[in-house]
Amino acid sequence: MTLTLDNPSTIQCKYQKLSEAQKEWAHTELSKRLECIKQFSALLGKFREELARTLTMDMGKPIRQSRAEIDHARKRIQYFLEHSHQWLTPQIVHHEFGLEEVLSYEPLGVIGNISAWNYPYLVGVNVFVPALIAGNAVLYKPSEYATETGKKIEELILETDIPENIFSAVIGDGSAGQHLLTLPLDGYFFTGSYKTGSHIAKQVAHRLVPVGLELGGKDPLYVTDEINDLQRVAKACVEGCFYNNGQSCCAVERLYVHHEIYQPFLYAFLQETQKLKMGNPLLESTDQGPLTRAQQIDFLNDQIEDAIKKGAHILLGGTQEGCPEPFFSPTVIEHVDHSMKIMREESFGPIIGIQKVQNDAEALELMQDTDYGLTASIYCDDIPRAQNILEQLDIGNGMINCCDRVSPHLPWSGRNHSGLGSTLSYLGILAFVKPKGYQIKRNLDK
Ligand code: NAD
Repeated sequence: MTLTLDNPSTIQCKYQKLSEAQKEWAHTELSKRLECIKQFSALLGKFREELARTLTMDMGKPIRQSRAEIDHARKRIQYFLEHSHQWLTPQIVHHEFGLEEVLSYEPLGVIGNISAWNYPYLVGVNVFVPALIAGNAVLYKPSEYATETGKKIEELILETDIPENIFSAVIGDGSAGQHLLTLPLDGYFFTGSYKTGSHIAKQVAHRLVPVGLELGGKDPLYVTDEINDLQRVAKACVEGCFYNNGQSCCAVERLYVHHEIYQPFLYAFLQETQKLKMGNPLLESTDQGPLTRAQQIDFLNDQIEDAIKKGAHILLGGTQEGCPEPFFSPTVIEHVDHSMKIMREESFGPIIGIQKVQNDAEALELMQDTDYGLTASIYCDDIPRAQNILEQLDIGNGMINCCDRVSPHLPWSGRNHSGLGSTLSYLGILAFVKPKGYQIKRNLDK
């Protein structure tokens, strides 16, 4: 299949067209814009199987997980369809001596959406759906590791009643993304690594327009001594660590386990991990496909070697014998500590370090010891005990007796190296508009 890549002049041309067409879209009634997004969701449903296969072929996600991603994306769209009206409609917020004060919102204009490959539908929908609903035009740059999916998304949007030149995909790698930063966009919304995100923030700072950054994580999970169904907790933890090959921003990347239950938990965790089936991602039975980027293998091996050098033990995986590249067998490592890269750097792959802790105070101290701040999870039957720990963490989302979850009803918001701003929830609708206040005196005599 031939792939036409964009270059600076095609990108400039796309931007120009979006900029001209956006004004009319901004004045299209909100109900009409919502109807167009409804059509997009229906198309995702109609072509679900074909889209899921394309996603799996693009980046190796097991086919069941690809279908699940499309289904979840449609649920998020449903959230925006049901709640945008409430937040975007102008409201009289105050009345005083015949004076009316009205809060209204206007779209930002043409926004850039530079996206990641690990969940192209989910992270894409978080941005371009509320942006389009609010009346923006979108220059969408899918990741070079999910190009076919990015093209499908554009194709489906063009099939709806959204007019031409309101949504355009830019096809290319980081250099195409870099070119987006030179355009006078009205907002830059990025999902990807801290390294690229902080670079983007610096590059566009002088423009003083909104910048949204959804970045990486090193999310901790603490299993306390108060859990009554150890096997179920272990199974949930395995899913949190290894779903999508661990290539999730909110994957569990560090496990802390209370010493009272350490041995039985570890046993159950290893048992559940061994059940994962690695293989052809197009097969229904597969839990783990190949890694999306072969070069990640060296990165993961470096974290493993560093841990072993400093005294860690591999319990499962590690050596990639019998595991053809770019597959990577789930790797579980114990006797880890925070001098090791595996407990401090984002791994973004199927490897996990497990550390024994004596009490909540030690768990809290270790959970806090990170540059990131996306999510943290605690398994504990005593909810106030878990809540007390989560309240002390600098994170955007805390989870009790669940992990690796994103809800459209709550802001998806990273702190520190995990990002800036929020997508999802009402905050993720208001992220794509600028407020305007009106003060109206209807009768000068009053
Ligand atoms: P990445 O930073 O390598 O690339 C992301 C996007 O940026 C790609 O489209 C890429 O082409 C583009 N890009 C690269 N260099 C650029 C530049 N100089 N200027 C402009 N654009 C450029 O990240 P990735 O490998 O695609 O994604 C993995 C990372 O994303 C992980 O760190 C993961 O945790 C994070 N992520 C975060 C969330 C979240 O919601 N917080 C969701 C998914 C992924």
